[in-house]
Amino acid sequence: MEGKETIPKILVIDDEMDIRDGCERILYRMGYDVLCAENGQDGLQILENQDICIVLCDIKMPGMDGFEVLAKIKEQYKSVLVIMLTGFSTVETAIEAMKKGAYDFISKPFTPDELRIVIKRAFETLHLTLEANALKLEQHKNLIDLETEQSRIRTIIETLPHGLMVTNIRGQIVLMNPVAQKYLNLGHDTCVGKMIELCIEDKGLCDYIMQISRGHYKADEDMPSYELALSEERFILAEGRPVLNEDAKCMGAVVTLSDITDLKIFDRLKSEFVAQVSHELRSPLSVIHDQLGMVIKASDSEKSGKSEKNQYLIGRARDKTKNLISLIGDLLDISRIEAGNECLEPVKVNAEDILKKIVEFQDVQARKKNLSIELKLPDKKTPSLICDPTALESIFGNLITNAIKYTPDGGKISIKLDSRDENIRVTIKDNGFGIEQKHLPRLFEKFYRVKDDNTRFINGTGLGLTIVKSLVDSLKGSIHVESEPGRGSLFTVILPCNAQTGQTE
Ligand code: ADP
Repeated sequence: MEGKETIPKILVIDDEMDIRDGCERILYRMGYDVLCAENGQDGLQILENQDICIVLCDIKMPGMDGFEVLAKIKEQYKSVLVIMLTGFSTVETAIEAMKKGAYDFISKPFTPDELRIVIKRAFETLHLTLEANALKLEQHKNLIDLETEQSRIRTIIETLPHGLMVTNIRGQIVLMNPVAQKYLNLGHDTCVGKMIELCIEDKGLCDYIMQISRGHYKADEDMPSYELALSEERFILAEGRPVLNEDAKCMGAVVTLSDITDLKIFDRLKSEFVAQVSHELRSPLSVIHDQLGMVIKASDSEKSGKSEKNQYLIGRARDKTKNLISLIGDLLDISRIEAGNECLEPVKVNAEDILKKIVEFQDVQARKKNLSIELKLPDKKTPSLICDPTALESIFGNLITNAIKYTPDGGKISIKLDSRDENIRVTIKDNGFGIEQKHLPRLFEKFYRVKDDNTRFINGTGLGLTIVKSLVDSLKGSIHVESEPGRGSLFTVILPCNAQTGQTE
């Protein structure tokens, strides 16, 4: 809102009515608002209630005299200017009044012009004081703003998730945030002001920063970056830019440091993944290729009927293609789960029904190996889960298939279902080969397979448990394995009944 222009107020304190009226008239014509009091007491009362700039005060008054009024005004209203009206002017009274803080004095009798001049001067002084105060305030505010701005920038720089450092053209460190100090292993000692080669051990990084600091690169050109290995498992990427002044001259460098360890690991895993897939696909494909070649050759040379050998070779080729198809199926399952599309239609599912179905289906395989499968169900029906039934089929199907695969002929598999506190718990126990302790932490990793004398000739992709773990995670459940070589394994799956599988729509 625009401030209303207020008319300055002048207070006249004098026991003589003529003086009061005369002053009022003159000052009113000058454009001021004038208030009058016939004694000091009344004058102070007005000062208390009104915003007065100047007081004209008689010295000699009955009761409270002018000096007393002056003292009170100086004590309570420091910015008010007091002009004393001296009746029987002597230099001494005037000097005394000035010493006591009066701004000026006028000797009675005075002409209107004399009054005008003194008042004008007083207002000029008031304006100057006001301006000076405003300037002082402004300056103070600017300083506070600057300080706030600086502390804001400092806070931002210090809380950046990346390392940040700035160097000057000579390679001295001008700024370095705590993350950069940490990455460069510099402890808490300040590096500001030191040459980079005294603080940074890696010579390659020093050279990189020096080159940018000295203006070897233009700001708009593609800048190289520098990769720094802090250890065998920790990698940092330094990316620098020249700092230019107004004349586009290089004044130093600003360098960010980012932790790229995860990216490096991801990259390595990706390469390993591709290598593993190619490896897994290549050998069965080569076998199929060779065997089919032999079949063709055989059928060319043996005119008389299709030999048994041909049947055998074609059968082997089919087995290999079956493995390939299963690998590809697992890979597709994993990519589907990782993309979050594992659950197509969540419905009410009962684990008991699913387990019965799987056991019935797997029984054929188990019988081939003379294995017994026992399914223990609770007396009371367990609560249902809301999920895609294929997720449960895949989890329990994979675990039961493994139990059959990794248990030698004549072994025993027992599956148990129970429920507690809105969770269902399924255990799949076998008395098969078991797994050495050292393999357990990596068992759910992609392509991880235990290769020993027992498992060497058992086909598999190493993806089954990865799929199981991903699905259990998506159902907000948990899986746990206990195993002992030669005695068997126990897989425990716990699934909450109130959680739905990840993606629903
Ligand atoms: P695979 O296709 O090789 O069976 P999985 O991911 O299902 O892949 O299993 C990973 C590895 O864990 C297997 O290669 C096997 O060595 C081990 N394993 C899994 N289940 C069992 C089990 N019940 N008994 C012994 N070893 C097992």
